[in-house]
Amino acid sequence: MARVYNFSAGPAVLPEEVLKEAADEMLDYQGTGMSVMEMSHRSKAYDKIIKDAEQDLRDLMNIPDNYKVLFLQGGASQQFAMIPMNLMKNKVADYIVTGQWAKKAYQEASKYGKANKIASSEDETFSYIPDCSDLPISEDADYVYICENNTIYGTKYKTLPNTKGKTLVADVSSCFLSEPVDVSKYGVIYGGVQKNIGPAGVVIVIIREDLITEDVLPGTPTMLQYKIHADADSLYNTPPAYGIYICGKVFKWLKKMGGLEAMKQRNEEKAKILYDFLDQSELFKGTVRKEDRSLMNVPFVTGDADLDAKFVKEAKEAGFENLKGHRTVGGMRASIYNAMPKAGVEALVEFMKKFEAENK
Ligand SMILES: *Cc1c(COP(=O)(O)O)cnc(C)c1O
Repeated sequence: MARVYNFSAGPAVLPEEVLKEAADEMLDYQGTGMSVMEMSHRSKAYDKIIKDAEQDLRDLMNIPDNYKVLFLQGGASQQFAMIPMNLMKNKVADYIVTGQWAKKAYQEASKYGKANKIASSEDETFSYIPDCSDLPISEDADYVYICENNTIYGTKYKTLPNTKGKTLVADVSSCFLSEPVDVSKYGVIYGGVQKNIGPAGVVIVIIREDLITEDVLPGTPTMLQYKIHADADSLYNTPPAYGIYICGKVFKWLKKMGGLEAMKQRNEEKAKILYDFLDQSELFKGTVRKEDRSLMNVPFVTGDADLDAKFVKEAKEAGFENLKGHRTVGGMRASIYNAMPKAGVEALVEFMKKFEAENK
């Protein structure tokens, strides 16, 4: 069996160690005689799995005690609605639109109140992060919303926007646990785990306790209220139990790797290998403003759609999977999440050099 280098933007590569451990435990989880998939979410064994997962995440991110950690379903996209339904007390929120995901969140919020687009980079195909040092923040805004790492376009906020005291809400789906963060700067941090943490089906919401109230928009379904899930420690109904178990294993793997400081270093090293190559290449070039480059998603093009397609095809044949860019932008994109080894990025660059030499 040969594993490929998988550069998918999501669902994405997971640490091989984690997959092997899960395989070992598939039929009999720690003497229970059953798989975690077959286990009651109210059992003692599962209680330890979900509690350990939460604690390990708290340790990794240094999450303050006045924040709740929720393991929910519905993907990141469900949060596009859940956030306004729970947080729009004044029915006003400010959105910074830096890509398709931020735009979708903005459009969804517009259904529930007045969503203001206070900045955007759509004028240049989302290839940069707008200056967010002095934005026209609305006086009565309930929150300011960002997508911190733009998976499709490959940009990342290097400094958080100045929200002028308003609550910051961030979608971190594609940069979750890729580097340390100061949780106290946010009201809500959330992300679907299938990019950088685990299998699709789990979304993690880290939310400051004062934002969890019964005062939600009229008609908000029970399942879409943060308070319901917070009060029940994410066990109001059956949680995505197996997915949480894999996330827990990834948290332990991250701890073993040295935590988020070590991951940041590793991710910077990996990204540098690829960006340095792109910057000197005569064939390939990166598509975003240098200072806004993501460590996780690296889009690039040759400038010729046929040559791009040839590259993707030949790369696949050589064992480099999922390098095709997002359908809305074309070109290529290499997602180099936590679990992508440095050797994978080095091998990709070697392949790109060879392709460049052959296609001059
Ligand atoms: C993938 C992605 C989403 C959508 O996630 P789903 O779980 O499919 O709803 C939202 N935001 C960002 C930043 C993403 O990368």
